Amino acid sequence: MIDFELTTADQEILKLAHEQALIGQRYARYYDQHEDELPPAEFPEAANLPNLTRLAEEGVSGSSGPRILHSLVILETYGGIDLHRARWGLGNTVLKTVATPAQFDKWKDHTISIAITEPGAGSDPANIRTTATFDRETGEWIINGEKIFISQAESADAAMVFSRFIAPDGSRGMTTFLVEKGTPGFTVGPQLKKLGIRSHDTCNLLFDNCRIPEFNHIKGDFKSTMSVFNDSRPMVGAMALGVARAALDFTREKYTERGLEIDYRGGLRSRSALVDRFIRLEAIYEAALLTVLRSKWLEQQDVPPKVEASIAKAAGGKAARRITQGCIDLLGPEALSEDHPLDRCFRDGRIFDIYEGAGEIQRLIIARAILGYTGRDLR
Ligand SMILES: Cc1cc2nc3c(=O)[nH]c(=O)nc-3n(C[C@H](O)[C@H](O)[C@H](O)COP(=O)(O)OP(=O)(O)OC[C@H]3O[C@@H](n4cnc5c(N)ncnc54)[C@H](O)[C@@H]3O)c2cc1C
Repeated sequence: MIDFELTTADQEILKLAHEQALIGQRYARYYDQHEDELPPAEFPEAANLPNLTRLAEEGVSGSSGPRILHSLVILETYGGIDLHRARWGLGNTVLKTVATPAQFDKWKDHTISIAITEPGAGSDPANIRTTATFDRETGEWIINGEKIFISQAESADAAMVFSRFIAPDGSRGMTTFLVEKGTPGFTVGPQLKKLGIRSHDTCNLLFDNCRIPEFNHIKGDFKSTMSVFNDSRPMVGAMALGVARAALDFTREKYTERGLEIDYRGGLRSRSALVDRFIRLEAIYEAALLTVLRSKWLEQQDVPPKVEASIAKAAGGKAARRITQGCIDLLGPEALSEDHPLDRCFRDGRIFDIYEGAGEIQRLIIARAILGYTGRDLR
């Protein structure tokens, strides 16, 4: 049976997450306005506070399970800034999924970004132009290419780089290489100026005759490598809902100040249009939340949530866009003041429908699954 009731243990962790979120929100505007500065790895206030994402992942007795709880903690804290910087990047998930035990052992404590996107290759990795050629004399791979908009680029210890390869036997294909910071020929560009999530570390990467040892070739098949998105896409949905929720919470506060009561019992005849529109935004939030929980619940049952992950990502991304814009509509000009969080939520909310597969791409994946089409049939 699927049961989405939160347990007492969940609620206790989420209460702590909410307290940390309120502290994180105090810093959000500062880093929104100072995008060249990365937030510290740990804020001073965090020194005596538990790292809840780590706690959730490790497992909390009596909780709904590590995957569900982790996504809920992310949702709870995402409206502001995380007091503890994430030490896990999507590159770590690739390492865990497809690396050899020796490779995993070597880099398990590194933070590893994921570097797929290039100018001209975002939604469709088949367009990737970064190349890795094998040097028979030295036994090294030589990487050349450019990656753009890479999250955790500056703070990570290494990048998991998606590349075309030409093997010693002449075979070609797509693969991944782990490139450590400090490797000659690997340069991280300056922080990019962005519309939203300005506190996030995002830079371009350049590989110019960058030589790496054969040991750094992470040889998983491309399908297994791409399966890491089953785990991360619902998390992006949860992040999106965190931002949407911050917008809803702020709007509810303003309604209360203005004496607008949100009465869920009355029907359309008894509520004002303003209240009705707010309740409809909340309904979008609740529906999207269920898609995230379902995807994470399936993961906990060891069922790979390929389509459900896309549904959660698409629903979360769309919800963030509709809810943040809807809240601005409801509050009017006050919503656009930098004294309040809404303009930031609106700008931050846009990204969740772009990275890790844009909304359109998720809808293609969903449509293919429902209609039984291949990628070639529907693209
Ligand atoms: C802040 C930020 C952080 C990022 N972090 C990372 C990261 O860590 N690692 C990384 O590798 N990348 C990262 N990206 C890149 C991101 O994943 C890409 O921007 C995204 O995949 C879209 O690719 P694109 O920008 O090339 O757009 P395109 O693929 O050119 O798409 C442009 C538009 O066309 C639509 N579209 C494309 N193909 C189709 C189709 N077949 N049918 C219908 N519509 C279609 C898209 O949905 C989109 O709306 C990040 C981007 C940003 C903005």
